[in-house]
Amino acid sequence: MSCVIGLTGGIGSGKSAAAALFAERGITVVDTDAIAHALTAPGGAAMPAIRAEFGDAVAGADGALDRAAMRAIVFADPGARKRLESILHPMIRAESERLLAADGARAPYAILMVPLLVESGDYRKRVDRVAVVDCAEATQIARVMNRNGLARAEVERILAAQASRAERLAAADDVIDNDGELAALAPQIERLHAQYLAFCGHVG
Ligand code: ADP
Repeated sequence: MSCVIGLTGGIGSGKSAAAALFAERGITVVDTDAIAHALTAPGGAAMPAIRAEFGDAVAGADGALDRAAMRAIVFADPGARKRLESILHPMIRAESERLLAADGARAPYAILMVPLLVESGDYRKRVDRVAVVDCAEATQIARVMNRNGLARAEVERILAAQASRAERLAAADDVIDNDGELAALAPQIERLHAQYLAFCGHVG
């Protein structure tokens, strides 16, 4: 298998923006968040197990996970989060591995985008390098309020549940600075891409 670069960053830091720039360079990006969404979409592979565990009320009329209903259950019962994760995590892991393996020897490296990579010892073990998209927390908050139409307090609550900026930077092999304008991102990705081609040529 080609070498795997873990791409992470707090909510709103610009992971998707950075990932798009790697994809533009022909690099496969496996997005664990997108996999989780697909697993819980209508007809999603995780839905039978989730319904069996939590009841049909957690599925909407279309068969997709009713996120509000699931959030209410998890909020009321911390054990429920663990049960949900024990269904989803192995499936996300298997699907991400399948997609990375399918990428195979096509390119010297692939990107595994994991929002909570720093929080997860398991993912840290599975990647060859960790790239962190970094910006100030005030920038994250402004971007997510704007992107998702959320209130400041709601965004702050999400941030508080994630690793801190300092924790993420401490885990980084490479830091992508996305506090500036979007145009400043491309030259950094270009530089890292060249670095990863060289690095992964050696380990791959
Ligand atoms: P993440 O995937 O880490 O949650 P996104 O890449 O979706 O973050 O970026 C969050 C929001 O901020 C998006 O609406 C995106 O278009 C915007 N954004 C990302 N980077 C910048 C930037 N450098 N300047 C301005 N807006 C940005």
